[in-house]
Amino acid sequence: MGNDSGLLLVLSGPSGVGKGTVCKALRQYMPELVYSVSATTRKPREGEVDGVNYFFKSKEEFQHMIQNDELLEWAEYVGNYYGTPRKFVEETLASGRDVVLEIEVQGALQVKEKFPQGTFLFLAPPDLSELHNRIVGRGTETEESIRNRMEMAKVEIELMEKYDYVVVNDVVESACERIKSIVTAEHLKKDRQIHKYRKMIKEV
Ligand code: ADP
Ligand code: 5GP
Repeated sequence: MGNDSGLLLVLSGPSGVGKGTVCKALRQYMPELVYSVSATTRKPREGEVDGVNYFFKSKEEFQHMIQNDELLEWAEYVGNYYGTPRKFVEETLASGRDVVLEIEVQGALQVKEKFPQGTFLFLAPPDLSELHNRIVGRGTETEESIRNRMEMAKVEIELMEKYDYVVVNDVVESACERIKSIVTAEHLKKDRQIHKYRKMIKEV
């Protein structure tokens, strides 16, 4: 990838922290970003549209995508497979636009292995009791699943170490504001700027 390619922004964090909520708000707040559409074997929820929310696939189709190396990363999460189609991400980055992946932690770490130049954002809860309240408040989980997710969250928070930035999701708008600041700063990094000036100097 050249200096003019877009940023790969990986937004991840524990279940219930608000990844989906922040990403939805970010679509309004930063419409200039391109949001990757994942493939999944989970069934569509009411109102979800194939190709918009996800590419809904059978297990066989998903396996086929893995075998053909069509996925940048993939993970099994609560009994379903989720993965990021590689071609779209690569083409969009090459066209100079920034791409957002909203993915769970295992997938984010795979992207980090394959694409270390990405920008890794860990969405963190203000504290663990608030994380618990959010998982309960969403009303989608059984008691056992809530306990599992809280245990998993402790392990995932330790993995914060591998990320570039921690974005606290206290208030959704504040989290979006923080992400916007990060994107601005990443674009201003010397390595992304210097080649333009070198080119100018050569041309005078
Ligand atoms: P994730 O995608 O990380 O699993 P969700 O986006 O589904 O998390 O959010 C989990 C729950 O927390 C939802 O009920 C959502 O409305 C709520 N939530 C998300 N962000 C906030 C916030 N900043 N303040 C209060 N509640 C939030
Ligand atoms: P949901 O089923 O609620 O839409 O998503 C469940 C989890 O899968 C969320 O944590 C979401 O971030 C994650 N996810 C969505 N798409 C992908 C993907 O392409 N790869 C990975 N690894 N996780 C994903």
